[in-house]
Amino acid sequence: MPRKIAAGNWKMNGTAASLAMLRDLAANLPDAGPDVLICPPAPLLFRAVDAAAGTSILIGAQDCHAAASGAYTGDISAAQIADTGATYVILGHSERREGHNERNRDVRAKIEAAWAAGLAAILCLGESLEDREADNTLDIIAGQLAGSLPNGATPENTVIAYEPIWAIGTGKVPTLAQIVDVHDFLRAELTDRLGATTADDISLLYGGSVKPDNAALIFEARNVDGALVGGASLKVADFAPIIHALA
Ligand code: 13P
Repeated sequence: MPRKIAAGNWKMNGTAASLAMLRDLAANLPDAGPDVLICPPAPLLFRAVDAAAGTSILIGAQDCHAAASGAYTGDISAAQIADTGATYVILGHSERREGHNERNRDVRAKIEAAWAAGLAAILCLGESLEDREADNTLDIIAGQLAGSLPNGATPENTVIAYEPIWAIGTGKVPTLAQIVDVHDFLRAELTDRLGATTADDISLLYGGSVKPDNAALIFEARNVDGALVGGASLKVADFAPIIHALA
């Protein structure tokens, strides 16, 4: 069985003061619930790890560089992320693919770097509205998965997040059937590539406008093992009910 995971991607939101929510969130978690992960902006990682100490909350980053070290001004290596005590890194988010011209092969190199540093990667995939309307969704997903997932994925080092670009921050959510289509497809592609024993245990998250009022329905979808949550992960009042819906 894949691990259930509720992951919060804070994107470029929050300051040190925002980390007070971690204690509050920890106090509002269900018993025997999903793994809960918060991915704050990089400057907050050390403090976030401290703030989460003694709780079950895990900490992750939102990107890393593919190189181990060197002359890359402004970039952050996977080893530097691991050094903070964070254990995950989100890679290939559409906001990186679109805003920073990350191609599949760049994402693949970053995942290899993350694994080499002992981090688990959350690989994000998703189609644009144009692709969806042209009925190209599964082709896009297949291309992104084949191009960005390196060989050697395991349930421990890899989580896949399906995030339709048109659903991110828009309040628009695919139908349950549309989510199931993509998640079934992802499971089948992973099975082809990795074999059922490995593929069946890789967590597949849905992301894009997950809110307290739609989470329970989304989590009913086959092959949905959790969520990658943006806006609604910033406040305990929004994120805690989503986590409870997954428990
Ligand atoms: P929203 O939940 O704000 O739509 O963001 C989703 C997302 O991009 C998470 O990575």
